[in-house]
Amino acid sequence: MTEKSVRVRIAPSPTGYFHIGSARTALFNWLFARHHGGRFIVRVEDTDRSRYHPEAVPDMLASLRWLGLDWDEGPEVGGDYGPYFQSERLEIYRHYAHWLVAQGHAYRCYCPPERLAALRREQREAKDDIGYDRHCRTLTARQRAEYEAQGIIPVIRLAVPLEGQTTFHDVLYGDITVDNSALNDLVLLKSDGYPTYHLANVVDDHLMAISHIMRGDEWLSSVPKHVLLYHAFGWEVPVYAHLPLILAPSGQGKLSKRHGGVEVRDFRRQGYLPEAMVNYLARVGWSYDDKTEIFSREELIRYFDLSGVNSSPARFSYERLEWINGYYIRQLDADDLAERLVPFLVEAGFPVAANQVRPIVPLVRERLKKLADVVEWTDFFFKEQLDYEPAALIGPKMTAAGSLAALRRAREVLASVPDFRAETIEPPLRALADELGLKSGPLLGILRVAVTGKTVAPPLFETLAVLGQARTVARLDRAVEKLAALVA
Ligand code: GLU
Repeated sequence: MTEKSVRVRIAPSPTGYFHIGSARTALFNWLFARHHGGRFIVRVEDTDRSRYHPEAVPDMLASLRWLGLDWDEGPEVGGDYGPYFQSERLEIYRHYAHWLVAQGHAYRCYCPPERLAALRREQREAKDDIGYDRHCRTLTARQRAEYEAQGIIPVIRLAVPLEGQTTFHDVLYGDITVDNSALNDLVLLKSDGYPTYHLANVVDDHLMAISHIMRGDEWLSSVPKHVLLYHAFGWEVPVYAHLPLILAPSGQGKLSKRHGGVEVRDFRRQGYLPEAMVNYLARVGWSYDDKTEIFSREELIRYFDLSGVNSSPARFSYERLEWINGYYIRQLDADDLAERLVPFLVEAGFPVAANQVRPIVPLVRERLKKLADVVEWTDFFFKEQLDYEPAALIGPKMTAAGSLAALRRAREVLASVPDFRAETIEPPLRALADELGLKSGPLLGILRVAVTGKTVAPPLFETLAVLGQARTVARLDRAVEKLAALVA
């Protein structure tokens, strides 16, 4: 690995929002580059204009930045091997396509779409799917001149060797050999002058001096064609490592939207921490010792290598991810966590600042699996009015009148606690339960509904303390009113 410098890339096609599988590919490439002191490059494969999505590139760059995967060359940062958008490199692909024609490795094909469609139909019927029949491969100069005179603009196809085999090595899959007779004379340059994926991908990986190609294994079947291109150009073939597919949590089929979030922005919106995403994604298809789950970014860089990448498909587990996320949330210091919670509360309609969120952090830190969970746990702190059914104020096995009496006494007791803190609130409330002949549970349950509007909420005494005496008492007054109306 030392003789040639490590240069790796991701080469996304901007067809939609950045997918979690692409993020995993990006992470592995980034870790590999950082581990080996190499370069991580982003190249945008945007030659298929019909599938172009205008938000794809900004979303990808935002996702990479959010994950902390900085790129050394590519959009916005430039580099010595640019441009990094294929749509700005069309002349380069044309040049190389024509060079292949001049060398006899490729040829111009004038077949009209109708002929190709008829051919496909015939082959389908005969169940003999051999692809293009190489009609134009053997045209004479004169025949070609005739087509040109008719103004037909040709495509350029690779002249795949008719015999022999193509072999390549993949770090994860080993040696793979295919018969050339199984390969089609693929199109390299379309009649509109745009390259196909195969040509542009190979030309750029070579010109950008890419040393290792790590990408999803759906591209494995393209490699023989690419290797033929490298050979035709007389270029060195890069090292290939095709990464295992990401399966649905059940292990059945590919991960898809049906299973949950699949775009990086989905996870971001739900409040996964980027450090948890990175940690989790690193483990999808890679392991260090089969037991370590938690890795800091520095540890990942230190330990990551292709030898730890598994070639069998990896299941995506939302449960595991949530667990790791909860772990990382618990590790954050309280000020940092408060800052990170703010946007989720703001999004939910509570225009809070970090200093207002800071006091509730100790109440929820252990309970959050995702940052967005904060809304469900703490919205009552920020609401003016709570919305709950008066009947929820009736304790289990208690009457409405009994519950009302308990609420009224609790209001008096809480209003007279000097120095309102969790430690000073608890003893008089427990004493009140005794006085009323109740267990603490039902009394505290009634109070919980009165001050939070919920039956499940953070620990009550701490919650009351953070809410403050005045608001606590006001909420109890309101609860008394509500329940009184029901009793009357
Ligand atoms: N443009 C291809 C994609 O969208 C690139 C595949 C590769 O990395 O070669 O995934």
